[in-house]
Amino acid sequence: MVAGTNVNWGIVTDGTAVTLVDAGYPNDADALLASLAAVGRHPGDVVAVLLTHAHLDHMGGARALVDRYRTPVLTGAEEARHARREYLDQISPGQMLRECGRWAGLRWVAATVRAVVPHARMALADVGAVEPGVALDVPGGLVAVPTPGHTRGHTAYLMPSAGVLFSGDTLVTGHPTSRVGSGPQKLPTVFNEDERGVTAAIRGLRELPADTLVPGHGGLLRAPVAAVVDEALRRTP
Ligand SMILES: [Zn+2]
Repeated sequence: MVAGTNVNWGIVTDGTAVTLVDAGYPNDADALLASLAAVGRHPGDVVAVLLTHAHLDHMGGARALVDRYRTPVLTGAEEARHARREYLDQISPGQMLRECGRWAGLRWVAATVRAVVPHARMALADVGAVEPGVALDVPGGLVAVPTPGHTRGHTAYLMPSAGVLFSGDTLVTGHPTSRVGSGPQKLPTVFNEDERGVTAAIRGLRELPADTLVPGHGGLLRAPVAAVVDEALRRTP
């Protein structure tokens, strides 16, 4: 797991080949390439970028790989429509401000607006759809787990061989605007397209064979996923 600008991405290696899970903000592109170099890989080694969802903080850095290396980008079928910007499931800066209304929120909004505004119209035209529930033919053999709620097509990824769950923004362990501090939690309601959907999606992760959580925001967590789910739903019902 690599921490970018208030957001994480994952690097899965198999020999020299790499799967990326998410790609950070557009402004994280240099950090994304540096993170590959740090594990001895070249951007051309990336076989696929798997997106949990098509918000700019998760797909922005993929543009650098797509443009220079024609790296395939994959996500759930519904989320591929979102990546193409057939619609946009995202709150406005004004909504964020009203909802946050605190210094932590204000600081986060300012940083986010700076990172997002120059790229607000970014879309990825050529995004493929993953088949849920089967090992994908990518390094790590990740399995797509539909988790609609944060966005309509949000998709988590399970790496069964290592017991790792990439939970994206369905289940996180912190966020600059969190009101409950760090630890397993839902993102604040304002970020979620369908709040009840997020709750159901988190519950659906409970039985997965995973004991390492790589969330979209917050620190990596090593604990049985059932316990992580229960704690998240207790702290942020
Ligand atoms: Zn996010």
